[in-house]
Amino acid sequence: MPGTQQGIATLADTDKLNHDFVTCPFCGLHCDDLSVASNGGKLTVTKNGCEKAKAGFEHDVPSAVPQIGGKDATLPEAIAEAAARLNQSRQPLIGGLGTDVEGMRAVLALADRAGGVVDHALSAAMSRNMGVLQTKGWFMSTLTETRNRADLLIIVGVDLAAEHPRFFERIASPAEAMFDGDADKRTVVLIGCGGNAKSGVKGGRIGDVIEIACQAEEIPPLLGALRAVLKDVPHTAPPPAGIPAATLTDLAGRMKAASYGVAVWAPHALTFADADLAVQMVSDIVRDMNKTTRFVGLSLSGNDGAQSAASVCSWQTGFPLRVSFASGAPDYDPYRHDVARMLKAGEGDLLVWISSFGPVPVAPPETDLPMIVIGSPNIKLARAPDVFIPVGTPGLDHGGRLVRCDSVVSLPLKRLRSTPLPRLTEVALNIEAALQRT
Ligand code: SF4
Repeated sequence: MPGTQQGIATLADTDKLNHDFVTCPFCGLHCDDLSVASNGGKLTVTKNGCEKAKAGFEHDVPSAVPQIGGKDATLPEAIAEAAARLNQSRQPLIGGLGTDVEGMRAVLALADRAGGVVDHALSAAMSRNMGVLQTKGWFMSTLTETRNRADLLIIVGVDLAAEHPRFFERIASPAEAMFDGDADKRTVVLIGCGGNAKSGVKGGRIGDVIEIACQAEEIPPLLGALRAVLKDVPHTAPPPAGIPAATLTDLAGRMKAASYGVAVWAPHALTFADADLAVQMVSDIVRDMNKTTRFVGLSLSGNDGAQSAASVCSWQTGFPLRVSFASGAPDYDPYRHDVARMLKAGEGDLLVWISSFGPVPVAPPETDLPMIVIGSPNIKLARAPDVFIPVGTPGLDHGGRLVRCDSVVSLPLKRLRSTPLPRLTEVALNIEAALQRT
């Protein structure tokens, strides 16, 4: 019978164990209550988790070895080749950044040494938040505060049951909350969340569920109309077609009556043109509300290690992501150091792509540039990269830490199985060390 172990398993132990209190790395909530059985390298979620977690933990990982130009190589050979290519590069672009805290620390050391630009695959989404934070500041909540205090949740532009499947179970409708009685039944309002979102709102603490359906691009004008109603001022444009004024009046009344209202969004789900306006408008409404009551925002992001990458970059350079080390010092510019833009504009001469979270690791953008891929073995690539180094997934193949979407805590990751795959930290630091010698 497999044993139960709550601490970090040793290498020899990991092949047949039940692991409790496992942190899930597959979305920014990083739920830390999963149980996962490990048997001969095969992982099975046995308690808690969700479909997304099951897909992430339970998918088969093909065996893979490093490659140079599509041909098998040893790890030291691949590291030496990667270092040689970085050494020749005048402007390396280091993107993807799908890794954990320790991995990101190593990537920054490498970027610093190589004079590279660092940018996460989800930076465009994160910058929707960053622009608001930098220009006006904001009032934000955490998952814990929301779980304990919220009596009204307004969810904007995201089907949470699909994007962050356990949000309602763990945050909106938890089995226990610190201030029971204050939030017996929570009202949930869905604004432009898509046709399936309402069916995913479940839980014993959920009270009224109000759906205000609109197209994604109608969210900013709808929020503008709601803001006018809240402030009791005329609004030049009517709310989007089909939404009665009485609906907004009713919502404004509920917001004013709430003792702890929370506006929830996920920046990566706001994919329409000018989506920044939606975050801006939510933040403005929250600010207005705080003149008379308590109201906060809650941004759910952090998939693919995005929050870890952004946090580590801020801790170590003083800037959020999209930083260049080309001048020898960190240089932050969210427009110029956008790797996708730089590739389209013909800037840069080498792409280093990092992507270690499955089950479908984020693939690199199309480019004719020479490419080094350091990623999960099942990453789908349109062409053989010049150097490919397969690495393990944080929280499955090795321990580590990930910063949660609300950026107030980092969660410990466990090694759940033994694997020959190296961790990205080791690979990046070895490439950096090889660069130092050249
Ligand atoms: S909600 Fe997210 S973090 Fe929680 S188990 Fe599902 S995929 Fe993992």
